[in-house]
Amino acid sequence: MSVDKGIFRRRQRQSETFDYHAGEPSPTPWKSDVQIEHYVPTHCCYCGVQCGMYLKVAGGKVVGVEPREDFPLNRGMLCPKGATAYQTVNHPDRLTYPLMRRNGKESPLERASWDEVLDVIAGRFRAIQGEYGKDAVAIYSGSSMTNEKCYLMGKFARVALGTRHTDYNGRLCMSSATGANERSLGIDRAANPVSDMLHADCIFVIGANVGECFPIITSYLWQARDRGCKLIVADPRQTPIARTADVFLPLRSGTDSALLNGMLHVIIKEGLIDEDFIRARTVGWEETKALVEQYPPERVAKVCGLRPEAIIEAARMFGQAQAALIYTARGLEHQSKGVDNGVTAINLALATGNFGRPGAGYGTLTGQGNGQGGREMGQKASQLPGCREIENPEDRTYICSVWGIDEKDLPHSGYP
Ligand code: SF4
Repeated sequence: MSVDKGIFRRRQRQSETFDYHAGEPSPTPWKSDVQIEHYVPTHCCYCGVQCGMYLKVAGGKVVGVEPREDFPLNRGMLCPKGATAYQTVNHPDRLTYPLMRRNGKESPLERASWDEVLDVIAGRFRAIQGEYGKDAVAIYSGSSMTNEKCYLMGKFARVALGTRHTDYNGRLCMSSATGANERSLGIDRAANPVSDMLHADCIFVIGANVGECFPIITSYLWQARDRGCKLIVADPRQTPIARTADVFLPLRSGTDSALLNGMLHVIIKEGLIDEDFIRARTVGWEETKALVEQYPPERVAKVCGLRPEAIIEAARMFGQAQAALIYTARGLEHQSKGVDNGVTAINLALATGNFGRPGAGYGTLTGQGNGQGGREMGQKASQLPGCREIENPEDRTYICSVWGIDEKDLPHSGYP
């Protein structure tokens, strides 16, 4: 038995080619003498940096972008992706109206009006929920949207549809970081603004391809480097940022926790922990210490495919810094042990007292535009707006009072 692979071949023949149309004039030709009528402030939605930009409008069309000098994150910079983002607006392949298969799954997609498709969608939602219950409909959304739109997605699912099954792309993207944040810090929120990089003496980037996935963040790293900040990069690939590191740790995929535990082992042995901070601000230190005792650099080197000397050098660099930052991203998080990996990264920052000071801390570099905002605004299955917990009675009561609904009508958690 097998799937009907012919389905894909048939679909392929039907589909159009969504790419550059060779031989056709550009939809957005460059004209240096065009008179710009409006500058519309917005942001680039391509990556988690979300640089501020102006869309340049002339003759009722978007004809270009300009970076915003007043936006605190990119301060007049855009990467090549952002600088060409406007070209999608008038591209002939852009879908600007609904398409619908009017006669079943095998029928072709045909142009439809918004009224027509909204009636069909609402009618199907009602019919399915009427027959199978409210939870028979699920909402899954992205978060390359403003906070306000993210908020509305969660509210639409819970109030308009009344379904517990709502989630967003962060389920795949940053859920491990969320789990680690909640387990170690008690709240799913970044500990530092990006500008803290400029105050760090050591930055440790693990599982984050900064140069290609968060291009403008590179400028913060370079500015930090200009004032003497050390850079450690751990990544199975020699990414562009890895090529500039003081210590590059090309670890074997999936061995992040071993490396981080090994570094903490060295930091403890060399007396580089912050005992006052640990005593005053943490719990579970003895268990952590007992665990990392099992990770001497020689053993970790074999697990990770690294030299023991490189692990020791990285540990000293991080442990001796006055202010050190550790940044993770999807490379460390998209693993079956992603939450544990995140917790071991946070352990490194906690054990060295690198929290609550400028240039010291831990953070995850958000993958998608507004991935953090999406869950703060209540797009996630287990969270209500403002990082409130959907199963916490006080949080439920408060949100119901804002939304004007009875607590019994607010669905409970989907899959946490
Ligand atoms: S760094 Fe990210 S948000 Fe900024 S311009 Fe490039 S793709 Fe857009």
